[in-house]
Amino acid sequence: MERSQVKEIVKGVGATAVGIARVTEVDAAARQSYLHWIESGRSAPLGYMDRYHEVRDNPRLLLDGANSIIVAAFSYYYPTSAARSHFTIARYARGADYHDVVRRRLNEAVSAMISETALDPSDFRVCVDTAPLRERYWARKAGVGFIGRNNALIVPGEGSYMVLGEILTTMELDTDAPCALTCGNCMACVKSCPAGALDCDEDGYCGVDASRCLSCLTIEHRGDFPEGVKLGGRIAGCDTCQDVCPHNRHAKTSTIAEFAPSNPLLDMTDDQILSLRAEDIRPLTRHTSLSRIKPADFIRNIHTP
Ligand code: SF4
Ligand code: SF4
Repeated sequence: MERSQVKEIVKGVGATAVGIARVTEVDAAARQSYLHWIESGRSAPLGYMDRYHEVRDNPRLLLDGANSIIVAAFSYYYPTSAARSHFTIARYARGADYHDVVRRRLNEAVSAMISETALDPSDFRVCVDTAPLRERYWARKAGVGFIGRNNALIVPGEGSYMVLGEILTTMELDTDAPCALTCGNCMACVKSCPAGALDCDEDGYCGVDASRCLSCLTIEHRGDFPEGVKLGGRIAGCDTCQDVCPHNRHAKTSTIAEFAPSNPLLDMTDDQILSLRAEDIRPLTRHTSLSRIKPADFIRNIHTP
């Protein structure tokens, strides 16, 4: 298939941006900086990031004979409507679970590619966040965008309110040039992070410190928080470092209806949220990206100032 035809198919299922890269092993510099991030303790509480290194460094272990990786970015941005409480939920989690939405759409794209070729389903593998794949690394390689200081993938002209999905395929497609843009001198997210999670460590390493990041803590941390954690009303995720990013100033509303804000928590008052019990949480988080938060931890988030 031609690269343009593949991109047209993936855009046809709702992607804002699509790019293609050749599948190789992840380069040494990227591997080293990832290991430094783990070894410095900045990956906690994301314990799963320290597993499956071999696969993470070599996508061919996810699909035998993979030649190309198609990376797609899907916008989830919807403007914020008037809030009824001071509590906030990260934008990506306000509508339907992006894992389901993006997987369904990329599977549709794969079906369309199969019908255009002599290939079969074993020539493709769709990944949406759950496989050990360096998503943003491949997105940059495929020319979809660049990785900001806030660790988000920034799509030029579109912003970073994006979720990513990938299709590994045995097809040998023409590739795109990697995105060469950078944040330049901007430090807006670093200065605005309420937890200091984007400050550089003593070795000069400046990746996000997941052990402090409120997005990681509210969603991934189990049990009591370390002393001193202040959430400021963030009950699930944090958007601060994206909200201040100049690349998001002109974010366009998503075309994906499933991402429209629909969580009942958004219509609740402070009193209603504060009176929630653990048994009330599952019905509120089912079929959303918040379902991974255990009810007891959700209650913890609500009651952490
Ligand atoms: S998500 Fe929030 S806490 Fe985490 S790095 Fe961004 S601004 Fe800081
Ligand atoms: S706020 Fe500035 S430094 Fe941070 S990701 Fe956006 S452009 Fe980069």
